[in-house]
Parts: sequence; C-alpha cells; structure tokens
Amino acid sequence: GTLQNDDFRNLEELGTGNGGSVIKVEHLSTGVIMAKKIVLIDAKPAVRKQILRELHIMYDCDSVYIVSSYGAYLTEPNICICMEFMDKGSFDGVYKRNGPIDIRVVGKVAFCVLEGLRYLYDVHRIIHRDIKPSNILLNSAGEIKLCDFGVSGELINSIANTFVGTSIYMSPERIQGGDYSVKSDIWSLGITLIELAHGRFPFNDSDSDDEDDMMEDSLRPPTITPDSPFSRRRSRGVSLHGSLMTMSIIELMHQIVKEPAPRLMAIGPDGRRRFPVEAEELVDACLDKEPEKRSMPGGLAQFKWIEMSKNDPIDLKAWAATT
Ligand code: ADP
Ligand code: MG
Repeated sequence: GTLQNDDFRNLEELGTGNGGSVIKVEHLSTGVIMAKKIVLIDAKPAVRKQILRELHIMYDCDSVYIVSSYGAYLTEPNICICMEFMDKGSFDGVYKRNGPIDIRVVGKVAFCVLEGLRYLYDVHRIIHRDIKPSNILLNSAGEIKLCDFGVSGELINSIANTFVGTSIYMSPERIQGGDYSVKSDIWSLGITLIELAHGRFPFNDSDSDDEDDMMEDSLRPPTITPDSPFSRRRSRGVSLHGSLMTMSIIELMHQIVKEPAPRLMAIGPDGRRRFPVEAEELVDACLDKEPEKRSMPGGLAQFKWIEMSKNDPIDLKAWAATT
C-alpha cells in the first residue's frame, strides 16, 4: 500500500541539503529502518501528482550500485521519499571525519559510481545530475551506492529553492548553459574523486599560500564546500542563508570555465608518488574540459584503473568498520 507519515517513527536527523532534510525513521509495521527525505515543493496539485508518477521510476531501479526506494508520498507542502538507509552515511562525512581516503577505496568508489551511472543511463535513460560526495553512500557491509538521481524533471522544477541545480561540481559546459548530458556527470565524478583522495575540495582561492604543504592542507576542512561555498579564510561578508549566490561562487564558476581542470596530485610534496599513474589517467579523462572529448561511463569502465579497482581484493567491509 501507499506510505504515509503515521507509518513512521522519527529516529534522528541525518542531514540537510539544498532541497530539504533527511531523517532516519523506523517503518512501524515492519520494523525496517529507512532514510526519509523531505523535500519542500512549490507546485500545484496536478504537478505534485505528476512528480509522484515520475518518482515511480525509482522503484524499478534494481542495482547494487543504486540506493533502493521504498516509496514516496505527499504531505502538503512536502514530498517524502523513503529509501534504503545507509548506516555509514555519505563519503563527504567519511573524509571530513577521517581525512583523505585510501586511493584503493577511492578506486572502488570510481568503479561503483561508473557502474551506477551506466545502469541508470543504459537501462533507464536517466542522467544522475548531482554526482558529489554527499550523494555517494556507504554501509557497514562495505557497499557503495548512488542516491539522489534526477528521476523527476517536475520535482527538479518544483523544489522551493532557487539554487537547486547550482552546484560546485558543475561541468564547464553546464556553467555556460549547455545541455545536461551524461558527460556532465563524468566531470562531477572527476572532481569528487580528487576531493576524496586529497581530503579537500580541489578548487581554491587563487591567493592560497599553502600549496607547498599538502599534508597539513589535506587535513584541513575544504575551503569551499556545498554547505558553505565561501572561503573560510576570506569570507566576503555575505550570509550563507541570506544569499547563496555570492562573489565567491561566481569566482569559482569563472575558475572552472577559464582555468585548466584540477588534477590528482599524484606526486606528493616530498617528490614521491602517492597515487598510481592509472588513477591519474582516469581522473584526467573525467576532467577533459571539452565534453566532446570526455568519455562516456562505458568508455571509462575500460580504463586500467577501473579494471584494477574492480579486481582489487581490498576488504571494504573491514574498511567501513574503521570509518
Ligand atoms: P546533500 O546531498 O546535498 O548533502 P541531502 O538532503 O540529499 O543533501 O542529504 C543530506 C544528508 O543526509 C547527506 O549528506 C547524507 O549524509 C545523508 N543521507 C542522505 N540519504 C541517506 C541515506 N539513504 N542513508 C543514510 N544517510 C543519508
Ligand atoms: Mg543528497
């Protein structure tokens, strides 16, 4: 049957994003623990029903690389989406708690995200549209899964927040107003992989003075994050909640379009190699600034590092227990 608010007991808040908040809940009649996403939408009843119809695609998604869905329902003025609870949270939390993530684990993330993207695109013709560390989830079985993919165009249009769709993981062609393609997701994946391996978001203020001290730098929280798109060192005095569109996010967008793409810092400050050259090659391929030259998910799956990571016997369950 259809779900409703009375079916659940709230346990704790898991986090909030641009579009709403996510709560850990217990489904009372079955005892199943779920993650319930509450999105405030601004839409007429007909459009709300259309959104619910569009969300049905989620229930048809059946892949170990995609967070599964239990159902969605309306409670004015919100829409609630109930999904599989991932008890180790998202990868942004993992590196913010533990520092840079082991490159072998990052390789597993690359493999799982590419498999998830391929599944969504090849089977359902869905483009994810919001690849970033907070939409890549981990559980204590060591499984890595994607959530928050763009199944509903009407939902995207109706979210009562003007800044939904503006992301610091956006590709140069998207910033310049181009059409969204699966290749834009590949750009976002490249940025995400660097962020996880370095333990910080790879774009920075141009006058940053600490690039000679990678180790110390990588332990610091990122300068620019989705929650706080401001320089912590050089805040320009615009309140986050007042207006997300600040000078610093405009500067960042400018940097993404005009500057060379960021790269994996495979050679450490001591001159020694920290990451395999195959990882560098994959990230460079994701971050080709020209979408025509950037590979599709299927093409990237052929890369050496993805093959290596797929076959890597690293025990993700044991690793997840340390996070
Ligand atoms: P964002 O993805 O921008 O952080 P969201 O509202 O999508 O914002 O999610 C807020 C937080 O809730 C995420 O950062 C993530 O840590 C957590 N979260 C989302 N979905 C789940 C889930 N299915 N299981 C566990 N935690 C989740
Ligand atoms: Mg999310």
